[in-house]
Amino acid sequence: MSKALQFELLHKDAGSKARRGRITTPHGVIETPVFMPVGTQATVKAMKPESVNDTGAQIILANTYHLMLRPGSDIVREAGGLHEFMNWHKPILTDCGGFQVFSLGHLRKITEEGAMFSSHIDGSRHMLSPEKSIEVQNDLGSDIIMGFDECAPPDADRDYIAKSQARTTRWLKRCVEAHRNPDTQALFGIMQGGFFKDLREESAAAIVELNLPGYAIGGISVGETKEEYIGVLEYAPDLLPENKPRYVMGIGTPDYILEAVERGVDMFDCVEPTRIARHGMAMTSQGRVSIKNAKYERDFTPLDPECDCYCCRNYSRAYLRHLFKAGETMSHMLLSEHNLRFLSKLSEDIRDSIDKDRFSDFKAEFYAKYYGEREQR
Ligand SMILES: [Zn+2]
Repeated sequence: MSKALQFELLHKDAGSKARRGRITTPHGVIETPVFMPVGTQATVKAMKPESVNDTGAQIILANTYHLMLRPGSDIVREAGGLHEFMNWHKPILTDCGGFQVFSLGHLRKITEEGAMFSSHIDGSRHMLSPEKSIEVQNDLGSDIIMGFDECAPPDADRDYIAKSQARTTRWLKRCVEAHRNPDTQALFGIMQGGFFKDLREESAAAIVELNLPGYAIGGISVGETKEEYIGVLEYAPDLLPENKPRYVMGIGTPDYILEAVERGVDMFDCVEPTRIARHGMAMTSQGRVSIKNAKYERDFTPLDPECDCYCCRNYSRAYLRHLFKAGETMSHMLLSEHNLRFLSKLSEDIRDSIDKDRFSDFKAEFYAKYYGEREQR
């Protein structure tokens, strides 16, 4: 049993593999399934921590790659860790930094040691290795830290995926060795193996043997089709221990979340809700809404009549459209707050439906309501 993290499996849905759980960390409790907003540079873009908290967020994510380059993890450590530095006192999860480095393409080189890369900020050369990733995450002091993995591109061939997956396992063992704070920070391992079931099985068997407090399913939601995504989820969660949390990185649309939860996933994160907010897009109980649309010019009703967020309680579609058209920052703030509330509320409704053994009905009702009508663009 990990001192840094405890997971209780509270209830299993009668009609699917969906599960209700509770994670306890040094900075508080997380009810699962849970959506985690992303605060890339130690801030959820355009949101004060108080506003993030008001949306019902239980845990947020921050990015190791960005924070190691700027301001530098030594500065965050001197500030007393990420919680103090950014004034967020609930749980924080940090990623391993690999995803950003590997998406730098020609700017990076992968070896057994790690990945050499050029900073996107000033071109300076850095080595991100398992030891470095853990050192940075130890400095940041996040409650959940991730093992250093390679998220191979979705079109990589079997030979590449097999080698990459085996190397990720070797890297994970080095992460376990390098981890300085196992009593206060829970290290999760990441399963790889692309879209090959036998490679996924091999990866899962090797990382589960390390008896870590939680596990992620990596290498999905990286540009593959929805069928391929669901294909992996049909078996991958079952390869992981039932009594540990399971995390899929980078999913933030309701359909991807519902498909993952249905197959036994507990945690997910994405920049989607705050990113689309800055483009004037909202997720609402009636489907996606583009606030730019001319039909909202004189629409004085709330963005989402079923939503209880600060934005929907106080402002109209006409006002939000005006702010967006005028290029006002307030439009990013209000739409971000609404979108985060929407995914928090979706997580709450999912948990409630599992408690009542009606997840499949809830999923069908949600699909009909959200996707039934044509997208409003
Ligand atoms: Zn709202």
